[in-house]
Amino acid sequence: MANKEHLESLNQQKSQLFINFVQEIEALGWVVIITQSYRSMSKQAELHGLNPKNAAPGFSAHEYGFAIDINALKGDVHLKKSTKKQQWIDSGIPAIAKKYDLRWGGNFSNYYDPIHFDCVAAGDTARWFNYLKKTYPITYLHIYANKINWKF
Ligand SMILES: [Zn+2]
Repeated sequence: MANKEHLESLNQQKSQLFINFVQEIEALGWVVIITQSYRSMSKQAELHGLNPKNAAPGFSAHEYGFAIDINALKGDVHLKKSTKKQQWIDSGIPAIAKKYDLRWGGNFSNYYDPIHFDCVAAGDTARWFNYLKKTYPITYLHIYANKINWKF
């Protein structure tokens, strides 16, 4: 999937924020490769099965269209999941995320996930999931989550 398709898959209330975020990174000379964006609940379940440190279905910001995962390239530098935290910080990307009020997965205490950037607060997805599953069929939760008019 191209970056444009990834960005278009995000929740429409926040897609412009992520577009601006990516453009500002690219203005520093990085080539940004978006590797994940909106993700279905079944895909989340699959990822959680592969690694329990990945969020359980219903609990990932990706399922609400509020997160992207990126790699970044500049010269012979390739920022990816296994890249050390200091190298990510030196790239300037986490500082740009902070400016846009995005959480950086490099700061997550339970799971170092430096490719991940989202616009939710800790505990939000758990709260939304508990709310949504009362109203919507759980199988299609991710579809509703992507369409709801979020107020935050
Ligand atoms: Zn992610």
